[in-house]
Amino acid sequence: MIYADNAATTRMSQSAIAAMLPYMDKLYGNPSSLYAFGQQAKEALEDARARIAACLGCEAREITFTSGGSEADNQAILSAAAAGEKQGKKHIISTAFEHHAVLHTLKKLEKQGFAVTLLDVHENGIVAPEQVAQAIREDTCLVTVMYANNEIGTVQPIREIGAVCREKGVLFHTDAVQAVGHIPVDMGADNVDMLSLSAHKFHGPKGIGVLAAKRGTRLVSLIEGGAQERGKRAGTENIPAIMGMAAALEEAVRNLDANAQKLYAMRDTLIDGLSAIPHCILNGDSTRRLPGNVNFCFEGIEGESLLLLLDDRGVAASSGSACTSGSLDPSHVLLAIGRPHEIAHGSLRLTLSEDNTQDDVQTIITAVREVVSYLRSMSPVWRSLMQGKQNFILK
Ligand SMILES: *Cc1c(COP(=O)(O)O)cnc(C)c1O
Repeated sequence: MIYADNAATTRMSQSAIAAMLPYMDKLYGNPSSLYAFGQQAKEALEDARARIAACLGCEAREITFTSGGSEADNQAILSAAAAGEKQGKKHIISTAFEHHAVLHTLKKLEKQGFAVTLLDVHENGIVAPEQVAQAIREDTCLVTVMYANNEIGTVQPIREIGAVCREKGVLFHTDAVQAVGHIPVDMGADNVDMLSLSAHKFHGPKGIGVLAAKRGTRLVSLIEGGAQERGKRAGTENIPAIMGMAAALEEAVRNLDANAQKLYAMRDTLIDGLSAIPHCILNGDSTRRLPGNVNFCFEGIEGESLLLLLDDRGVAASSGSACTSGSLDPSHVLLAIGRPHEIAHGSLRLTLSEDNTQDDVQTIITAVREVVSYLRSMSPVWRSLMQGKQNFILK
């Protein structure tokens, strides 16, 4: 199988697995226990916290461990909302193409009387800092803009957006789940107050993530119970997963440049190869995108059929995000960048990792070309497009 769905999840690295094993086996103590065996686990926990902080450009005490990216997004937004409400500030700014962990949390807050402005995303998949500046009001308590989009891979001008927020004194959160471990991220330099990440997107284990929050940012706990994580997240810490995450992150950051160079070359070969298919379009800016992300729409076909036939040929890909596959609604991300419904339905996301090779890329190009023409040969929509009864939308 050629695995080309690394935005959905990644293989765990050997160093992550090796870092976890001792904490599942001999070193199973509870970090809250006072005896030496528990304190050994506590030391490992605090060491992992410091190493993760060093990778993110923040302080160890600014790290809160969560069950993943979704929980971190929820906690960041609900914390800012709680703080805003106390000051009578109930306006939040975000974008139309965020992950559902953000969008659904904002929906919930709207029902509680918050006003939410979702910024339009330009056709190239980028949000401009000026859009954020113009949307900020007296009562804005939070701006939340994702670092890199999980479907189309576009990388946002986070540093500039952060600078706008800092100047206006508004809290800034970024969902950096697709960015961390793939492109350089530094909370200090990027003017970010709160940042979410998830280990399984950079070769770490599933079910573990981080909410990093600058000192002075008040967090509310979503889980009531013990005093773990300075009272910000109750429950016995998942030490094996935390150790695996720290090892995976260090490895990803250490190899970031080398991996990115390899991926940029494969990504651009793939983009060139697929662009040769008639009546298709690349989604998202061609250069301001994640090193491994390729996302296309093909006119006259259904993304779901394309995926199934690619699967038959041993290529694991996606039509968008894993969360929306299985539903018949087109991707909210593709609609946000202005793709019409019928075009958005024919989408394909290929997300490479450094495990992939240029041979994989050639195999994928051939498979996609053949499957697209096969599906078109059977499509009534394609026939009427070819007969001129209907106009092509894509060139
Ligand atoms: C995967 C992902 C999430 C959710 O992370 P989980 O750890 O799976 O909960 C949130 N945001 C983005 C951008 C993602 O890609």
